[in-house]
Amino acid sequence: MKYQPIIGMEVHIELRTKTKMFCACPGFHFGTKPNTQTCPVCLGLPGALPVPNAQAVEWTQFLGTAFGCTLAKFSRFDRKNYFYPDLPKGYQISQYEYPLATYGSWTNGEGKKIGIRRIHLEEDTGKLSHTTINGERVTLVDFNRSGVPLAELVTEPDFSSSAEAKEFVQALQQIVRYLEISDADMEKGSMRLEANISVRVGQTTNDIRQKLPDYRVEVKNINSFRFLESAINYEIERQSEALERGEKLVQETRGYNEVKGITFSQRQKEEAHDYRYFPEPDIPSFEFSDEILKEIKSKLPELPESKRKRFETEYKISPSYSKILTETRELADFFEEAIKVGSVHGISPAKLANTLVNKKPNISKMLPAELIKLIKNAEEKGQISDEELEKVSLQSIEENSDVVESYKNGKESVLQFLVGQVMRKTKGRADPTKTAELLKKLLS
Ligand code: ZN
Ligand code: MN
Repeated sequence: MKYQPIIGMEVHIELRTKTKMFCACPGFHFGTKPNTQTCPVCLGLPGALPVPNAQAVEWTQFLGTAFGCTLAKFSRFDRKNYFYPDLPKGYQISQYEYPLATYGSWTNGEGKKIGIRRIHLEEDTGKLSHTTINGERVTLVDFNRSGVPLAELVTEPDFSSSAEAKEFVQALQQIVRYLEISDADMEKGSMRLEANISVRVGQTTNDIRQKLPDYRVEVKNINSFRFLESAINYEIERQSEALERGEKLVQETRGYNEVKGITFSQRQKEEAHDYRYFPEPDIPSFEFSDEILKEIKSKLPELPESKRKRFETEYKISPSYSKILTETRELADFFEEAIKVGSVHGISPAKLANTLVNKKPNISKMLPAELIKLIKNAEEKGQISDEELEKVSLQSIEENSDVVESYKNGKESVLQFLVGQVMRKTKGRADPTKTAELLKKLLS
């Protein structure tokens, strides 16, 4: 390829804390009646003082730990100043110089390492909706979302295709759900994607971060994995074609039109200095001791990848089964709980893995013990004792003397008829191969 894509991701994740980031209003806002969950703090009224949510801070540190980041010993909030109707204070409380976590990494399925530059904590804005009332175009503001905690994760520009970027955000969603810090639901907007895309001429060094182009295009408001892929592909093509024509590309923010499948220019990108960041004077800075950071790290649950590997070695199941069984924490926990119960009843992990992967029982509607009972019942129904099998086989031989006669005269194919008789008498509980062998023995 003549033009090499360089892609970085920025992901906002709404944390599912009980209360908002800096006040006691409920954090859950999806589908609530507009402007019923507000207070002077999240409405930005003069004199209201923010008090940080300790849970949100810790959860952001969880996310940092999950990506092998360094957790900051010193951290603080800053004001990011800009005007927009969904931002009543005229600034967003965010983190600039001292984010909670920095410099981690993530390794994709092909062993390629993607750098995580930083993870910081900030507050969400209100929600604008554009509509028509009495024939007039209006914009409504709902502040229920204003002040909801947001973790923002920024990667290095280490992706070189839309597929790589997609694989990452899918893994991120899975990790966030394992950590139980957000539902990371793209449709509800609790996980929002932005891609920074530029292209560079030719293959250069192995280090993708070297000689970056002097511009990048930020595509905002992408709300599905599929749209992420098509928005990035569209940009790569658009930018390559522009360079081909000898045009100069500029730093800008673009939106994505999912109906037309195209991106469109929104504004020439502002630089960090345009925001006039400065330390938030109403919130003291944080200092974390080594002990506290160690304690935070120790609270982390087992993550999908290590669970996947552990299932393979501990339960001797295939990588593909292990991947399916660790897709959600619920399924993985259910599987392990069922193994415990199953071991008492002689049901093997392999049998359980097989049942869960292939029969896909609705685990939200049953307990692991109930699944074991179902498997057990099915097995018992399917089993027939050797004595019973012999009894039924002899019976079939007696009742079909003519068939037995022709078998003894060399017509071996009639054996299948006798097998069929046994199957019918046992209502299908006999094993056909075993029955055929037994019949042969009895007739010899
Ligand atoms: Zn509030
Ligand atoms: Mn942000």
